[in-house]
Amino acid sequence: MNYFSVAISRYPIQSLVYAFDGEIALGTRVVVDIRNKKHIGYVLGKVNQPAFKVKGIIEIIDKTSFIDEKMMTIAKESSFKYMTPIGEILDLCFPPFKFKGKTLKKESAGKYLSLKISVSDIFKLQFDKNETKIVELLLENGPMEYAYALKNFPKSSIQSLLKKDILAITNFISKQQNVKLSAVQNQIVENILSKPLKPHLINGITGSGKTEIYFEIASHVIKSGKRVLILVPEIILTPQLTMRIRRRFPEIKIGMYHSALGASRKTEWDDVVSGNVDLLLGTRSAVWVPMKNIGLIVVDEEQDESYKQYAMRPYYNAVDVAQRRSELEGAIFILSSATPRIETYHKAINGEIEINKIEERSVGEIPDIKIVDMKASRSQIFSNVLINKIEENSKNGNQTFLFVPKKGFASRIQCANCGYIFKCPDCDVPMVYHKIDGVIKCHYCGHTESVPTICPVCGSSNLKKGGIGTERVEREISKIFPALRIKRMDREEVKDIASVEKTLEGIAKMEFDVVVGTKMITKGLDFPNIGLVGVIDADHSLGMPDFRANERTFQLLSQVSGRAGRGVKGEVVIQTMEPENPIMKAILDQNYDAFYRAEIDRRKMAGYPPFKELILITVEDKSPQEAMKNAQKVKDVISEGSFDILGPAESPIFKLMSKYRYQILLKCDDLDQAIGFLSSRIKVELLGFEPVNSVKIDVQPYAF
Ligand code: ADP
Ligand code: ZN
Ligand code: ZN
Repeated sequence: MNYFSVAISRYPIQSLVYAFDGEIALGTRVVVDIRNKKHIGYVLGKVNQPAFKVKGIIEIIDKTSFIDEKMMTIAKESSFKYMTPIGEILDLCFPPFKFKGKTLKKESAGKYLSLKISVSDIFKLQFDKNETKIVELLLENGPMEYAYALKNFPKSSIQSLLKKDILAITNFISKQQNVKLSAVQNQIVENILSKPLKPHLINGITGSGKTEIYFEIASHVIKSGKRVLILVPEIILTPQLTMRIRRRFPEIKIGMYHSALGASRKTEWDDVVSGNVDLLLGTRSAVWVPMKNIGLIVVDEEQDESYKQYAMRPYYNAVDVAQRRSELEGAIFILSSATPRIETYHKAINGEIEINKIEERSVGEIPDIKIVDMKASRSQIFSNVLINKIEENSKNGNQTFLFVPKKGFASRIQCANCGYIFKCPDCDVPMVYHKIDGVIKCHYCGHTESVPTICPVCGSSNLKKGGIGTERVEREISKIFPALRIKRMDREEVKDIASVEKTLEGIAKMEFDVVVGTKMITKGLDFPNIGLVGVIDADHSLGMPDFRANERTFQLLSQVSGRAGRGVKGEVVIQTMEPENPIMKAILDQNYDAFYRAEIDRRKMAGYPPFKELILITVEDKSPQEAMKNAQKVKDVISEGSFDILGPAESPIFKLMSKYRYQILLKCDDLDQAIGFLSSRIKVELLGFEPVNSVKIDVQPYAF
């Protein structure tokens, strides 16, 4: 008889020992019994016969293990780092079980859907919701794989479009004329291929040709018989990139993996693990797919926060997991971004990551950016500059987007004379204004002050509370321009996907002159007739209670600026009370390095990543008193650790799903040591106190 240590799927326990008469490979899925209930388990390895009586393994699920030693190493490391039982980590390596995967019919393989009618005819026709989506996608990206369409849209909609002769099925796809790489692009390709074991960053503004560079590397890797994994942040970007990859590599098999695939995720997974897929494109969950023989991993838009899972355990960061995988596989590792994370760029500056910069832009023109000082405008929402530009832009028959970066829950206090945003003296993060209590609070350490009346920088008593909302912008702009057709686009106005689609369609058909919206509209910025983008209250984003507020603002404004003027010459007007802020200057010059230099010093002085590592502990309860009591208990239990403890403080979103939340923020020099200590004090299995999961530990957090 042999004895195996087995990790249990979706079960808050590290491992149990079971007996089996035979050999079982590492990582094999098995069925075991816990308290008379069947569970899926993962074999972690052989152990000696224990002194206690053990049950037998009921069934072996996998004939061969999908988890090799390298994957197991990553699972073990992640289990430690993210303080999560290893069974919950290994769960990520498999598609969600327990449903019957819908298998695609063979007939769809190698076939494509394309539009049969002209663009002008399309606008004369009426489509239902799903038909509209299909047609829009085809309009934007050209032919799509039939299999992809079947997976993502109802077959009835596709068939109805085919019947109406709007779509056609074709067998081929025109191979894209490969672009001839520029000298700089070629240099970067050579540099990466000559240092395959060093992590690489490709840094250049949107449209500078980063994607073409990693396509070229992918082509080399595939020719050498190895496989490629490309991670992207958003599902909506995937069909577009898939098409581009399809055209670039017509002869290889491409797989797709993301949670929105639903049941066909299992089919895709089967395809990958059986070795049929040469290139896998996916979102963060794809990093766990046990694909063998990987020669290249690319993380596109590496700064995107969707790589960090924060809503449910394990709170892993797919970029870090991807890097570790590439190390163990000996694969090339490429991060691509116009505005990398400060942590990433710091590593690049220090030589831990090889930096590959492209300065020029391949297509399009850089829009004309203006930073407008709102201090002079006092309590007005719009500067004269912006009003004049809106008028001029509408006269030219172009659309204006007014971007209001308001997220809703937190509001700042800012001096209207000098632009100073009130910050915590200890943590250097913006404090949040609490209207009801008449105080401002730091959500990192709990520091509280009564609402200030005088600016500590310039002595002015002209202080502004809160930010500007979309509704107010909409109201005011309609007063100034009663003749213009104005559309508001935020979560209140546009609640579901259908109304998003409808609004976007309206924008495409030029039904609106001015669109007022939140971050939601950045997706829509691809429309060709946007001549002007106005950023109202850019300071809102700067005033978020988060040490990354500056970084997010820079990324957001770069993104917004980079997108104006796709079809027509674009202009961007950014309104701020802090025009002297180095971030604004960096935006104006589209200079990432200038931004980095300003921000890295601040991070160092205030003690934030990459100089200190953070761990965020959140305690929640239905009663605010209990939540506070438990948070205090957690603090007592870990008080001897060698890290700074901030809080407990109210979480920025204090009440969420009828629970009250307090957070404790740890700042440490040695992350592993801190995690080791925490694990010895707070059982990973139970995460502290009853009920389970009332304590959440997020290592290297992104959301506060
Ligand atoms: P990024 O990834 O930096 O946004 P892309 O690689 O997507 O940039 O390039 C932007 C556009 O320019 C794409 O349409 C791409 O095909 C084109 N492009 C990139 N490099 C070249 C080149 N050397 N010659 C011609 N077109 C290019
Ligand atoms: Zn001031
Ligand atoms: Zn503080």
